[in-house]
Amino acid sequence: MVTEVFTRKYCDPHAVRDEKVEATEVIQFAWDGTVREVDSCEECKKEYETQFEPLVDYSRPVKKRRVTKKTEDSAASGDESAEG
Ligand SMILES: [Zn+2]
Repeated sequence: MVTEVFTRKYCDPHAVRDEKVEATEVIQFAWDGTVREVDSCEECKKEYETQFEPLVDYSRPVKKRRVTKKTEDSAASGDESAEG
């Protein structure tokens, strides 16, 4: 028989503030050349991702918006809009 070990994880960022929030997510970050991770709740993960770049493969640099010199509005035509 296997004894089920019930280990509830708590959010580390919240634990710093003496708050116990169940951790459902994992925050990954680079530390001293290695990727480490901490337990976090959904809220803290979102907060983290807005402050730092996520270390995920599907992340991409934000493209700069093209500034149109013409002041014509409501006449925007995309370059790569190939519909049909
Ligand atoms: Zn949290």
